[in-house]
Parts: sequence; C-alpha cells; structure tokens
Amino acid sequence: MKKQNIIIIGGGIVGMAAAWEFAKNSNFSVTLVEKQPTLGGMSTWDAIGQFHWDRYYHVLLSRDSETLQLISELGLDDKLFWTTAKSGFFGNNRLVSLSGALDFITFPFLSLFQKVRLVFGILYISMIKDGSKLEKQYVRTWMTKVFGRRVYERIWDPLLRSKLGKGKEETSAVFIWATIKRLYGARSDSADKQEKMGHVEGGYAQILQIWEEELIKKGVVIVKNEPVLSVDTNKNIVNTVSSKYIFDQILITTPSPIAVDLLGRDLPEGDYKKFLTGQKYLGVICLRLLLKKSLSPYYVINLLDETLPFTGIIESTNVIGCDQVGGNHLVYLPRYSVEEDEFSKFDEKKIEQEFINALQKVFPELKKEDIITSTLSVERFVQPLYTLDYGNRIPSFSLPIEGVYLANTSMIKNATLNNNAALKLAKEAAAKEMVIEGVNSVYS
Ligand SMILES: Cc1cc2nc3c(=O)[nH]c(=O)nc-3n(C[C@H](O)[C@H](O)[C@H](O)COP(=O)(O)OP(=O)(O)OC[C@H]3O[C@@H](n4cnc5c(N)ncnc54)[C@H](O)[C@@H]3O)c2cc1C
Repeated sequence: MKKQNIIIIGGGIVGMAAAWEFAKNSNFSVTLVEKQPTLGGMSTWDAIGQFHWDRYYHVLLSRDSETLQLISELGLDDKLFWTTAKSGFFGNNRLVSLSGALDFITFPFLSLFQKVRLVFGILYISMIKDGSKLEKQYVRTWMTKVFGRRVYERIWDPLLRSKLGKGKEETSAVFIWATIKRLYGARSDSADKQEKMGHVEGGYAQILQIWEEELIKKGVVIVKNEPVLSVDTNKNIVNTVSSKYIFDQILITTPSPIAVDLLGRDLPEGDYKKFLTGQKYLGVICLRLLLKKSLSPYYVINLLDETLPFTGIIESTNVIGCDQVGGNHLVYLPRYSVEEDEFSKFDEKKIEQEFINALQKVFPELKKEDIITSTLSVERFVQPLYTLDYGNRIPSFSLPIEGVYLANTSMIKNATLNNNAALKLAKEAAAKEMVIEGVNSVYS
C-alpha cells in the first residue's frame, strides 16, 4: 500500500503530538513544518544570558496525565520534580501569603463572612461535573450569584482580569469552572492539600529536544525555520518560503487567524469559516527577568491593584529551583489582552521600562543592578476567548475541503489552555483523521 503523505503545519505541542501519533502508523509518511528555528510554539525555550529556559512560565499539575505519559515515553521520569507552590496576593500596598489554612484566616482582603462564602463557593464549583450547563451565562453574572457581589469584586474580578484582560466581560462561566477544577484538583490530590507543581529538569528545552530526536527516529521529517505561506487545496501543495510540499492529507495546527490566511480563498464560506473568523483571540506580552535576588517566596503573586501594568508576578525559580539558572532567580511579568492596539502599537523599550518601574513599586528594595538580563516576548494568538455558547460552536477537525484538517487550541472544550489539553486534542485529531481515511487507526 502506498504511504499517505501527511503534512502538519505548526510545530507547537499540538503539531508535535499529532506527528507522534501518525508516526506510530507505518501507513503514513509525516512532515512537520514549523516557522520558528525551534519546535514547541508557546512552550518553546530561548537563551537567558548564559542559561536557557522556557520563553513563558510552564508548570505541570498532578492531573496532567497526558503530559506525564509523554514525559514517561521520553524516558524523563527520573527528571520530574514536584514542589509545593506558595501563592501571594498584592493589594493596598501589602503583599500577603495565601498558601495555607492559617494564611486564609488572617487574609486581610476579605471579612470572615466573605471567606466562608468563598470556601463554600469553591467547593460548590469543584463539585459541578458537567460545565456545559454554564455555557450560556457570563462569568461575572454567575460568579456574583455564587460568591456574592463583594467577594466577586474583591477577589474574582481582579483574578479574571489577570487572565483575560478586558475580555473577562465577554467570557462565559465555563472558563472559571474549568480553571477552578484544574487548580482545585492539584490541591486535593496531594496528601497535605497544598498545591504541588511539577517541572522537568532542564525545562521544556529538555522535553522538546528529546521529543524532536524521537520523532526523527520514528521517520518524521522536521522542517524548521520555514514559514508556510499558503496552502493550495486544489493541487494539494503547501508553499513555504523556500519549498513546495505535496500532501495527501494536511493538518493545520496554527491559531485560527493564521489558518484562515493560509487557506485564503480555498476556505469556503459557511459555518466553519464563520467559527474561525469569529474568534476573538487573547494575546500576551510577557517580560522575563533574570535577577540576582529573590523577590518573594511565592510562585505566583495575584494582583488586586489594577494600576499595575502587568497582570501577575510569577517567580518561576520558586518551583523549578535556582540551580536551573545558575543560582539566579527567574521572574515573569505577563499582561494578557484582547485589544489589537496593545500588539500593533508596540514600543518594546517603553513597555519594558514601565514593567520594571511598576515592579519596583511592589518591591522597592529591587535595584536596577539586581537585573541581570530581561527579555520581552509577545504572543498575539494565545487562545480565543471562551465566549457564550462557545463549546457548542466548536466544529469537527475536518474542514469542508477534502483532506484538510484543523486542530488548534480553539477546539479545546470545557477546559483551560494547557499542554495536557493540547496533547489530548492532538491525539483525538490524529485518531479521527486516520479513521476518516479508512486507514487502520492505532486506536482500533
Ligand atoms: C504565558 C503562558 C503560560 C503558559 N503556562 C502554561 C503552563 O504552566 N502549563 C501548561 O500546560 N500550559 C501552559 N501554557 C499553554 C501552552 O503553552 C499551550 O497549551 C501550548 O503551547 C499550545 O500549543 P499549540 O501547539 O496548540 O499552539 P502554539 O504553541 O501556538 O503552536 C503553533 C505553532 O505553529 C507555528 N506557526 C504559526 N504560523 C506558522 C506558519 N505560517 N508556518 C509554519 N508554522 C507556523 C508557530 O510558530 C507555533 O510553533 C502557557 C501559555 C502561555 C502563553
């Protein structure tokens, strides 16, 4: 039987995982085409002075079964470490801990009654099994009902802003249900009920490099540093800056706006196109700092102060350990936004300075000389906002064009964006594609 040529566009987690699945089946000849010089997409790494680490902060949670399975398949089990992660809150010029029961009792931003309401609200949400019932309610409306207006405004509204920017007002309640379930799961699984977070020694650089080697061993052709310019679905050709690739089937894993551009006029009008073009994508601007000294013992500091230009302070080395970056300290300052202006009118130097000045307001003892190096990274298409009824609008992986499939994070239903969900999605897409074409599926 002649092998089917499968081209996968986009070497992020979804693209790599799909290639991994296809490569298990000898009926396929697989080519993965990535525009960047390294694989991994948003999970990739880059240099920080003389070290390297994840471009964006990444941790594992105990229920990330797909990611843990991948780590195991790559032979990295003995490089996997778990740490109890502490959280802090910054508001009214105060930084306080919220990492255990005692912290909760003394937590100054809520009254006793509000704390009781918060606990019961979280317990109630964590017990909801099917989030699809929340598709038709805005997160603000639903959370206000569950927690009361005060608790919503004091705690949840700033937290939602930190993840969704102004997009919080258009987001459905499923988003917060999925987030609370994921984080609550991480706590309730551990014996001491503390939040445990995992990482692999060497970070995603280690995972991705070994994964890439394994893909090559399995026969996957990996093309890096080669952006795809267009896909001709009539002639079954993928055009890149320097080559043409012929395909029998193609799987696009880029964010939806890029997929729409690549397909151009070949994408017919209709519900599928409407879904792809109707998504409002959240983007992120993130400053990564390598510091000589630690800012706090917290992995994440949630910000109740809306005047700060970033939406969270993540001190990664409080989970991964300072030894990963030569005894220094790694801090990420993300700002999520849905507004196009933030990304099109972009002044790198100005934003960097604004972020550092604001960080010094939170930590006045931080001096300029403490900053070894800084990197600003921008991702315009992180994930679409989970708007009302979003889950019910997600189409199938097969586009209305023969042999053309799409799998990207806009298709994650009832879950937050994370690599575990991305891996699951890729497996489903690969299985579906194989079954559709009548080839023996590795799942059958
Ligand atoms: C700030 C931040 C923090 C995160 N933290 C965590 C975490 O702690 N835990 C966790 O599990 N997940 C985390 N994630 C999410 C995780 O990074 C994503 O789930 C994952 O990267 C999604 O992978 P993807 O393959 O769907 O998309 P992407 O990573 O976007 O991959 C798409 C790929 O397509 C490529 N591409 C685009 N256009 C073209 C073209 N024209 N030609 C060829 N290639 C193209 C891109 O370069 C990219 O490699 C985080 C994400 C961010 C942004």
